[in-house]
Amino acid sequence: MNKSESINTEEQYKKALDKIYQAMNSSALLEQSEEDEFNDLVTLVEAYEDKHYPMPKLETVYLSLGSNLGDRKEILEKAIVLLNEKVGVVVKQSKDYETAPWGVTDQPDFLNLAIEIRTPLKPLEVLEQTQSIENQLGRVRKEKWGARLIDIDILFYGNQIIDEPNLKVPHPLIQERDFVLSPMVEITPDFVHPVLGKTILELRDYPRTPPTE
Ligand code: AMP
Repeated sequence: MNKSESINTEEQYKKALDKIYQAMNSSALLEQSEEDEFNDLVTLVEAYEDKHYPMPKLETVYLSLGSNLGDRKEILEKAIVLLNEKVGVVVKQSKDYETAPWGVTDQPDFLNLAIEIRTPLKPLEVLEQTQSIENQLGRVRKEKWGARLIDIDILFYGNQIIDEPNLKVPHPLIQERDFVLSPMVEITPDFVHPVLGKTILELRDYPRTPPTE
């Protein structure tokens, strides 16, 4: 079987897989022509699998979590467990950052962190889940930028730019907030902001403007 052929039936696919396993389990060194044939076979098997056994596409999403009421550490930990269950696999997590409140300053300090998550969900589905987790953990929301048990912001959804009434991604305030940039520098310093064209590290070292309503 060579590249010009293709695998069209389950039977051909299984035969091709058998050949691949045999070659992999054999200790004999492959001749150049056998190696070419092996590589062609792998390409054909992969093409068949893409068509008949597609893997769900996972997107890399960055979230910022913050809490400044109650047992902040415990609430953040609970949120991460729920995100792992409902949104996707949490692959990276920054340490906690104790930060002074931003915007409304006469409120307790925040504990902030950032996570990287691999999710099969679409952007609005991620928002639906993060909001449901905020509600489940009893977010009390009285004023903009005010005290809250848990706040979850979607910072980036891959490189996508989303401008829906209820979802702006990249989150519009990333570049203004040390409490977002510092944890993000820890987990993904070289990630390039798809709108500003600068890395997270560059954004952290850029001058910021104070919050205004
Ligand atoms: P906040 O109180 O700052 O967490 O704002 C929550 C509101 O912001 C919700 O109504 C969301 O629909 C909206 N929102 C817009 N873009 C985002 C985003 N990237 N992440 C989280 N919430 C967002």
